[in-house]
Amino acid sequence: QKQIHLAKRPTGMPDNDTFGFKDAPVPEPKDGEVLVRTLYLSVDPYMRGRMQDTESYVEPFPLNEVIHGGVVGEIVQSNSTDFKRGDTIVGMLGWQEYSAVPAKAVRKIDPDTAPITTALGVLGMPGLTAYFGLLHIGQPQEGETVVVSGAAGAVGSIVGQIAKIKGARVVGIAGSDEKLQYLKQIGFDETINYKTDNVGQALKKACPNGVDVYFDNVGGEISDEVYSLLNKFARVPICGAISSYNKAGEDLGPRVQTKLIKSSALMKGFVVGDYSDRFEEGTRALGTWVKNGSLKYEETIVEGFDNIPEAFLGLFKGSNLGKQLVKVADP
Ligand code: NDP
Repeated sequence: QKQIHLAKRPTGMPDNDTFGFKDAPVPEPKDGEVLVRTLYLSVDPYMRGRMQDTESYVEPFPLNEVIHGGVVGEIVQSNSTDFKRGDTIVGMLGWQEYSAVPAKAVRKIDPDTAPITTALGVLGMPGLTAYFGLLHIGQPQEGETVVVSGAAGAVGSIVGQIAKIKGARVVGIAGSDEKLQYLKQIGFDETINYKTDNVGQALKKACPNGVDVYFDNVGGEISDEVYSLLNKFARVPICGAISSYNKAGEDLGPRVQTKLIKSSALMKGFVVGDYSDRFEEGTRALGTWVKNGSLKYEETIVEGFDNIPEAFLGLFKGSNLGKQLVKVADP
């Protein structure tokens, strides 16, 4: 079977030297283990951080070992009473075609309630990130203005729609006109193309009443512009800073302290795992919205195991609309 190892820790943007393709035997599941055939695999911006050997909230990927991430797969052999052959599961598994793991490492999903890919997107980690970051930290109120950066991605597109469900006015920032068009389609009130618009001016125009919630997925200069518009008691969930993930040196920017003092704003970082004891509540709410049509989602699916690195690197070029996935095998 094919596997992808972390061959070299990247400096700056990862490239072909970062990823090592290997051939390995299909593993034999032990007692209490299941053998999973990989169907869909998730590529996520946070994986860039794990390629670095620095302290973080998740361990770095070990060098010369299989890279791990979210996988939806099919049980092809089960040595556990919890699963049977043919079950569909989701778990944190390797970038490989088959994985043998303890049964407790995977969770069963029901292909009849939602498409199985949603377990890696709107009903999985990105959806939960949007749900808890926005509702617990952002707390958007009816009539307030919510700005979302990285708005057309897996997390951002869900954030904007939940803010709409809560009655807020939503402004999305993204990197192409095609993405802005999509954001309008799913209900965003105003959109800004940070690659072609003057972000500061466009924000002022789009937010005549200032900004009450800024859900930050990107950091950097885009965020610097938003901070100038924060209203009294604004909330700023810091979800991601993708603009700096491939910067080799320190990411320096304007200081933000006086802006936060003047606005009495709350800026709070978080990881979705902070809310792990409430995942069931989040998944249920997201599922209800998807079912009743108030929450739409998009997936960009690249086909073929060999294209995993390209799909991953595409995240940093903005190749994806909604959740980026790789289809490895037919269900
Ligand atoms: P996305 O689906 O949003 O994909 C990444 C997107 O980021 C690209 O499509 C691209 O869109 C945009 N982007 C890439 N480079 C830049 C740049 N230099 N400046 C601005 N935008 C850029 O990914 P996710 O939704 O999975 O993740 C979004 C953010 O949330 C990431 O920062 C991620 O690390 C973070 N995250 C945090 C979690 C947490 O627990 N705190 C959990 C999950 C994600 P465009 O065309 O608009 O440039």
